[in-house]
Amino acid sequence: MIDYRSDTVTRPSKEMLEKMHQAPVGDDVFMEDPSINTLEKYISEMFGMEAGLFCPSGTMTNQVAIKTHTQAGDEVICEELSHVYQYEGGGIAFNAGCSVKLLQGNRGRLTAAQVLASINPEDVHKPISRLISLENTTNRGGGACYDFNEFISIKEVAKANNLQLHLDGARLFNAIVHKKENPLDYGKVFDSISICLSKGLGAPVGSVLIGSSAFIKKARRWRKVLGGGMRQAGSLAAACIYALENNIDRLIIDHTNALLIRDALKNKPFVASVLEVETNIVIANITGNQTAHQIAQRLKEKGVLAMAMSPTQIRFVTHLDITSDNIQDTIEIIKQL
Ligand SMILES: *Cc1c(COP(=O)(O)O)cnc(C)c1O
Repeated sequence: MIDYRSDTVTRPSKEMLEKMHQAPVGDDVFMEDPSINTLEKYISEMFGMEAGLFCPSGTMTNQVAIKTHTQAGDEVICEELSHVYQYEGGGIAFNAGCSVKLLQGNRGRLTAAQVLASINPEDVHKPISRLISLENTTNRGGGACYDFNEFISIKEVAKANNLQLHLDGARLFNAIVHKKENPLDYGKVFDSISICLSKGLGAPVGSVLIGSSAFIKKARRWRKVLGGGMRQAGSLAAACIYALENNIDRLIIDHTNALLIRDALKNKPFVASVLEVETNIVIANITGNQTAHQIAQRLKEKGVLAMAMSPTQIRFVTHLDITSDNIQDTIEIIKQL
């Protein structure tokens, strides 16, 4: 099967497994796991942040960040398609006791003007607007990237109104590679960033939350409360370090592959349109008498797995386990469909 359901389906390579096998380990709740300490330092320095916190999932890094930035009763501003709202099991309410101000953006992206207009006035009736949570690249937005200037404008709004700014960077390296950005610029704008190593970078498990030392100290407590304090997890961190050292620049291959899938799809009679492809996600809008689920089923019968996101949308995500032969086969299969 050629699996495009998500970039989470990658398996650790032989070289990565060797690094995991050799990793020095210790008890990370005591902060004595050398591999985890190295990973946290490596990635926080890459972004010019003071400290990092290794977590088992991107959901946990996001939820720990939201909990750390807020008090119960505060409000979190985010886009309506954002992962923190759509796909984290209601965690903003459950873990942080916060309400959410949902904004309708453009493919998952907000503007500074929208954020500014959504901040509550000083009024006992209103929850206190405390945190803005952005996503780059956007997942439901089909891998769209922000223009960095928008981040700078949103930061100004946040600063002027005493709000914190969090970035869900599950696929941040896809954006950085695509836009040729400097990670240090992100560290200057955001108060916290969550980065997944288990997506396009190909590690089996792991996300890191980065921020100031004081923020990460508080976040470490909430990670423990949520049950995310791991012990000899250094082998997992070693896989993440391998991913950072070897798998960032190659993301560009995934982006090129996504464009090839788009080209194969775009003239099919059952495809009304394909969202503009910027990174590694291709979303096609389906038309005619077949549903996206039926098309996904027909693809599956021919050896290709894609995800029906709704009756009228099908998604393909490229990743490092997709070879150029896989792409050629997929193009042929789509042609024959
Ligand atoms: C995948 C993803 C996450 C985290 O997911 P986990 O499965 O919990 O690691 C967070 N945000 C976005 C935008 C994602 O795509």
